[in-house]
Amino acid sequence: MPLPYPSLKPCPCGSGRSYAACCEPAHRGAAPETPEALMRSRYAAYVLQDEAYLLASWHPETRPGTLDLSDGTRYLGLRVYRAQGDEVTFTATLRLPDGHRAQLRERSTFARLDGRWVYVDGVTP
Ligand SMILES: [Zn+2]
Repeated sequence: MPLPYPSLKPCPCGSGRSYAACCEPAHRGAAPETPEALMRSRYAAYVLQDEAYLLASWHPETRPGTLDLSDGTRYLGLRVYRAQGDEVTFTATLRLPDGHRAQLRERSTFARLDGRWVYVDGVTP
């Protein structure tokens, strides 16, 4: 089960909007309109440990069978650098289970499947 999160608090994806006006509708079943919106909702799902959402928004050919977000990693922030076409480049700041901070930089690729954007995969740019 995802962690509870108040609708009126700033969205975990760092957009500056409320959760209700940003990623909450996606987490409740609405289809994000752009790859960036999907990417933000997936980052917020990592924050909220919403494994079911992450798996559901992953392309079936690349998604893992299971996902375990209870290893103690904390997601501290997201910066989106570029969103163009089906690609989004971002940096996520993490605190690893051992306490160290890490920057995850990725260029993600998305695809449309049955009218919805899904995450395909990512590379380090
Ligand atoms: Zn958001």
